Parts: sequence; C-alpha cells; structure tokens
Amino acid sequence: MVFPFKSVLDYEIKFKPEHEMFRNFVKEFMEREVAPKVSYIEEHNEIPKEVLDKVAQQGFQGISVPQQYGGQGGDQMSLAIFSEETAKICPALVTIIGANGLFIVPLLLYGTEEQKIRYVTPVAKGEKRSAHATSEAVAGSDVAGIQTKAEKIDGEWHISGRKAFISGGDIADYFVVLARTSPVQNKRERWKGLTMFIVERNTKGFTIGRHMEKMGLKGSHIVELQFDDVVVPDENRVGPEGEGFKVAMETYDHGRIGVAAQALGIAQAAFEKSLNYSLQRTTFERPIIQHQMIDAYLADMLMKLASARHLVYWAAYLADLGRQEYMLAASLAKAYATEAAEWLAEKTISIFGGAGVIVETQVERFLRDVEITKIYEGANEIQRLVIIRQLLKQTLGVDIS
Ligand SMILES: Cc1cc2nc3c(=O)[nH]c(=O)nc-3n(C[C@H](O)[C@H](O)[C@H](O)COP(=O)(O)OP(=O)(O)OC[C@H]3O[C@@H](n4cnc5c(N)ncnc54)[C@H](O)[C@@H]3O)c2cc1C
Repeated sequence: MVFPFKSVLDYEIKFKPEHEMFRNFVKEFMEREVAPKVSYIEEHNEIPKEVLDKVAQQGFQGISVPQQYGGQGGDQMSLAIFSEETAKICPALVTIIGANGLFIVPLLLYGTEEQKIRYVTPVAKGEKRSAHATSEAVAGSDVAGIQTKAEKIDGEWHISGRKAFISGGDIADYFVVLARTSPVQNKRERWKGLTMFIVERNTKGFTIGRHMEKMGLKGSHIVELQFDDVVVPDENRVGPEGEGFKVAMETYDHGRIGVAAQALGIAQAAFEKSLNYSLQRTTFERPIIQHQMIDAYLADMLMKLASARHLVYWAAYLADLGRQEYMLAASLAKAYATEAAEWLAEKTISIFGGAGVIVETQVERFLRDVEITKIYEGANEIQRLVIIRQLLKQTLGVDIS
C-alpha cells in the first residue's frame, strides 16, 4: 500500500498520441486566433464575438461530450489539455467554455434523453451558449443555504429568487438553476430538498441583472440573475426532485479538474515569461539569471509547476478510468495548482521588478486571474474539507460529512 492508495500503480498516468496531437492543435489555434487579441481583451474586458464564434465552431464547447450529442467524444485528459493550453494565452476563455461544461455535465449525468438532444447537442456543437446558476449573494460555498425557491403548481414549477456571480450569464441561451423545492426538515440534512431546473433565456419573468465587475479574467463576465415567478414544465427538471444538491456536487467534481488545468496554464505562461526575462534583463553587468537568488526563484517555480502538472494529469486520468479516487485527486489538483500558480505569478512580478507591475508588460494579470481560480468551483478552503472527507471515506470507510 502507498497510503492512501492501494498500490504504486494507482499513481500511473497514461497518454495517447491523440492527446499530443490535440495539444498542438489547441496551441496553434490559440496562438493564431486569440493571442493577437489579448491586449484588446484586457483593455476592453471583452472577447470579440468573432473569436468566441470561432472557438465554438471548433467544437471546444463539446470536447468531452459524446458524439451522439454533438460533441467530440473526448476524455477528461483532453479537456485538461484544452484548459491548460488555452489558459496560457487567455484564461478567461477557459472560464467561458467552462460555464458551458457546468451546464452540460449535470444533463449528461442526470438528464433525460430528450434534454440531452434538445439542450446538450446545440451547446456542444457551438450553436448555443449556456451557464450554471447555483450561487447567490447569500450562499456560495454553503450551497444548501440558497434561497431561490421553486414551487410545483398544477404540474409546473414556479421559480422565484436571485442568483449572483453567474459566469457567461450575459451571453447564455440556456441555464441550469438550483432552487429549494421543499423546506429544510432537520439541520443535518439541509442538503435535501433542492432541485435543478433548465431555464431558457427568454422565459417570462427571467431577467439578466447587473454585471459584477471583477479584478481578473477580463473578457469573461459574471452577472446577477432574477427570477420573478418563472414557470418551467416538469420536463425541465434535471434529476430527481429533491436531489439537486447531489447533482450539483457531482458536476463540480468534474469541473474542478478544468480549473486546476486553467491554473496550470497560467503558471506555465508565468514561468516561460520569467525565464525569458531572466535571460534578457541585465543588472550589475550580467543577465539576472546569473544571480543565484533569481535561479532559486526559477528552480522553485519549475518544482511547483511540475508537481501541479502531475496532479492535474493524474486527476484527469483517474476520472477517465472511472475511479472514485479521482474526487480526492481533483481536489488535491485544484487546491495545489491554483496556489502554486499564485506563487508563480507573484514571483514573476518580483523577477520583472518595476516592469512587473506595469499593465503593458502583461505580467500582473497572471496574479489577478489566478486569484479567481482559488475561489470558484469550490474555494480552496472547501477543497481541504473534501480532501480529508474523501481520504477518510476511501481509507477507513468513515463518512464525516
Ligand atoms: C469569477 C467568478 C465566477 C463564478 N462563476 C460562477 C458560476 O458560473 N455559477 C455559480 O453558481 N457560481 C459562480 N461563482 C461563485 C463561486 O462558486 C463562489 O464565489 C464560491 O463558491 C465561494 O462562495 P462565496 O463567494 O459565497 O464565499 P463564502 O462561501 O461566503 O466563503 C467566504 C470564505 O469562507 C470560507 N468558507 C466558507 N465555508 C467554509 C467552511 N465550511 N470551512 C472553511 N472555510 C469556509 C471560504 O472558503 C471563503 O474563504 C463564481 C465566482 C467568481 C468569483
């Protein structure tokens, strides 16, 4: 046993030649189509529509969606590779694509065949866009504390409430929305009584609210949503009534590998910029890479980068094998990669000196972007709770949740 796993083979990661081909394809696409627009995106806080359309047309909204529902039929490893390569150039694009994933995954896991055909297929093909609405101003980590309600009247659901922080809500056609459908019976089981629904953008009573200005990931937007007696048919319910918490949690287990890979891409970009600058910048008549303190920074950067990369690919590989341990690995990868990326981003600013805080140098944005990856899809404090709960479950069969 290699605690907490059974064997050293549990740490295996295998790639296929297709993974490297896909990486090259994404890299070339991002360098050609997106890299020239990065300054514009940062300055205007907007990704041009033609770029978003090209990304959608490439099928990137449906990488891991089965081909029968309009997707590419790829695996979690391909999705991680996509997130990493895209985040090296434009992390906000990963968030925009990720918002679609957070709509698609619950439907693939719990949706009816009709829901998959009607909603997943156009999103995977890039014909429509979608978003995931769980969080509220009053409840983020505490998903069971949401106050949006849905009541069943004559076979239809009436939804009322407000959501906040919803990525891609400004451009989405379809939303999954979590609402409370029955009151809390006892405190230990607050998670019961939530249900997830599909809501289409033009439904009566549904309003896209204000944009919430944020520090990083410029070009991806978060908005508030308002539901004033929004009526949807029972066919729009995703999964069993009262089981929405479980649907949401399983969705985030998948999503957090993508966030870890997004942070990995930011860290990789920060490292490459730091290395180049250290070779070019001279102080005291020598390139700064000849100062030992700078070498120590660069060496530590590479250690953290390599560790984060292994955790991300390992989590993706376990997920592709269908191993339950992927949940633990995904939380380890998410917390570690995002914090490693934060460390690298901060050290990149140190290596650049004054130039590091000048916006034009495009270095300070690494730090602004990476801070958000530590928070969404389960803040890192929550990841640490998940890590210990999963560890106890797997090794001792003890459930302390
Ligand atoms: C840019 C951005 C995009 C987002 N996109 C979406 C989206 O598309 N859809 C969506 O539904 N949501 C989205 N969110 C919301 C996001 O998921 C929440 O912000 C996140 O879950 C944290 O919730 P909170 O902000 O309410 O913080 P809180 O839950 O109030 O937490 C505050 C602090 O307390 C800590 N904390 C809370 N509970 C515990 C605990 N039990 N133990 C230890 N520490 C704890 C947290 O880790 C954090 O440090 C987005 C957020 C951001 C910033």
